[in-house]
Amino acid sequence: MHPIDCSGKVFIKEELIHANNAAIKEERNRQLKEDFLEKLSPEIYYPICLAFDHHNKGEVRVEIVFGEGLYGFLDMSKKRYDLLPVASKNEEGRVILTYPNGKAHPDNRPYEEKVHKKLVRKRDFRKQVLEAYNYKCAMCEVKAKSSLKAAHIYPAHKCNDDSIKNGICLCAIHDAEYEVGNICIKPDGTIINFVIDEIVIANYNKISLPDNPENHPSSERLQQRFELSLTKRKKKN
Ligand SMILES: [Zn+2]
Repeated sequence: MHPIDCSGKVFIKEELIHANNAAIKEERNRQLKEDFLEKLSPEIYYPICLAFDHHNKGEVRVEIVFGEGLYGFLDMSKKRYDLLPVASKNEEGRVILTYPNGKAHPDNRPYEEKVHKKLVRKRDFRKQVLEAYNYKCAMCEVKAKSSLKAAHIYPAHKCNDDSIKNGICLCAIHDAEYEVGNICIKPDGTIINFVIDEIVIANYNKISLPDNPENHPSSERLQQRFELSLTKRKKKN
């Protein structure tokens, strides 16, 4: 069993009941109580906070957030899992569901994002990122743990991705500059400095990477953030 990326994947009540019925019919190990599901609100998205692939069984086990401190496990076929929608927020802050088959629709369903964020961050995003980067800023020599930040590469409110691959360890100064787009990182890790300031200037041409390649930042996330920062800069200027 190994964890797989479940960033942004959510259930709506209706799909959850379908998936649970399938789990019952297919006699999978983890199922949810039917009367519990009946009581869920059809108005809320229920995020998946963890997903595991059962190798060579074609089965995925997910952990679903139902509320603060309320989680449940469900087993399903890989095929069913792959068809689940991904929730993200558009510019106006409205939640949009994107289905793998291309269907996307905004609606007014309140999204249990607060709960999701809380839960996933509890699983030590900061600690994991700092550890991966050996407690050192990826852009300079700063090593003081208290001034190090675990920054999201692509903003968490846009993708709910709290994996190490969407994180980077930065000192307070570089975190602030990265946040506002004065410093950008290209998908290959090259640092672009838009400000000429001795304090801000990064020590390296490229970010320093974690020792473990599995913890390297995702080039897809870097690309998304890079585009976002450039768009923001254009709007500003
Ligand atoms: Zn730094």
